[in-house]
Amino acid sequence: MAKNITIVGGGPAGLFCAYLLLKEGHHVDLYDHSSGLGKKFLIAGNGGLNLTHSEELNSFVTKYTDNEKLFSDLINDFTPRDLSDFCQEIGVETYVGSSGRVFPKDLKAAQILLNWTKRLKDHPNFNLNLKYSLISIQEDKTLTFNTPQGERKVKAETIILALGGASWKKTGSDGKWSELCQRLGIEFKDFEPMNCGFEVSWSDFLIKKLDRSHLKNIELSLKQRRAKGEVMITPYGIEGGAVYALSKFIQSEITQNNEAIINIDLKPDLSLNDVKEKFERRKAKDSLSNHLRKNLNLDKTSITLLNECLKEINPELIKRLPLKLERARPIDEAISTSGGISFGGLTNYLESQKVPGLYFAGEMLDFDAPTGGYLLQGCFSTAFRVVKGINIPTHE
Ligand SMILES: Cc1cc2nc3c(=O)[nH]c(=O)nc-3n(C[C@H](O)[C@H](O)[C@H](O)COP(=O)(O)OP(=O)(O)OC[C@H]3O[C@@H](n4cnc5c(N)ncnc54)[C@H](O)[C@@H]3O)c2cc1C
Repeated sequence: MAKNITIVGGGPAGLFCAYLLLKEGHHVDLYDHSSGLGKKFLIAGNGGLNLTHSEELNSFVTKYTDNEKLFSDLINDFTPRDLSDFCQEIGVETYVGSSGRVFPKDLKAAQILLNWTKRLKDHPNFNLNLKYSLISIQEDKTLTFNTPQGERKVKAETIILALGGASWKKTGSDGKWSELCQRLGIEFKDFEPMNCGFEVSWSDFLIKKLDRSHLKNIELSLKQRRAKGEVMITPYGIEGGAVYALSKFIQSEITQNNEAIINIDLKPDLSLNDVKEKFERRKAKDSLSNHLRKNLNLDKTSITLLNECLKEINPELIKRLPLKLERARPIDEAISTSGGISFGGLTNYLESQKVPGLYFAGEMLDFDAPTGGYLLQGCFSTAFRVVKGINIPTHE
């Protein structure tokens, strides 16, 4: 039977709920406080929109560390393959990059968003309300919005909140909704920056020499955790793929010890013995920098960093260069945030146990995952589950 569904939040999670619900014959009213839809999604496309990942599902789900069991169920229900099929359904081809990551053919988010929102806007059962800011939710499912015309109340039958995390406020994802949910007695965990940069006290010399330089093909480690990839040096510290991959563990180390010491392996493809052997081949006429460049193939960034961090360069330190991280960068700069609506207070269909008929999808749920397509896949799979819940007549 057709239902009237109220969705608040027009990012990928809310838009995907709308798309699926309209296909099932429901009526959808979508509200967002921004002047446009999918602003963060568009930003995500700036550096190449990594939609999802092609790795085996068994390995894929391990990326949702604290919620692996739940996400194993969610991702198996709406898989990375299904996400690529959805893109194709709306007229956008995807491809698998050499790293296994999945991108739209033109790497951008704009075409997906355009095709997707056109299908919604052309649908007779879809009603879009932009510049509507949700300011209160009552237990009887009355929503109050601030609008350019003043306050508006909406009495909803079924509500999906897809309000995003708490970073990149300029995209509309300001996290202020946390107060509304807590007022309603919905379980919530505080936001923390994830997939974020960390601060290091660099010398002025290093900042001048290396601002925005990249360390490529390195491996970072923090205790037993390792991440290969790239690190960008910034005036305040470091960021980049390898840092994001460890950010959750770096965060908890800083919380416990006020600092985190990570190690950088500048030659992860060489064993320590190989590095020693090459290191010892230095000719008398070669300066140390020249020798490191010629025989160990270390670039200017690596050599400057070694000089900054160490009194004496040796093979052990090329394989294990320690770096002290002091704190995470401010939450607004983070690619994603952990924290949000706790799964403990929700049913299997991500419906509030306290307020039946109130569902949650996307980044506003308390999950985190590294970059690499796991964030968007998580948003799509949670949206899919919510719609499944709305579509079945009775469930626990
Ligand atoms: C720089 C950057 C790069 C990224 N790159 C990738 C990537 O390559 N791959 C990947 O998987 N992920 C990436 N992400 C993360 C990804 O974009 C997000 O996880 C995703 O957009 C979250 O979708 P969502 O629908 O849950 O929330 P959002 O996209 O944040 O949408 C939430 C919506 O809710 C609205 N809203 C919030 N509060 C209210 C309110 N009170 N009233 C009304 N409306 C409200 C907002 O205006 C917004 O439109 C990136 C993020 C950033 C910042």
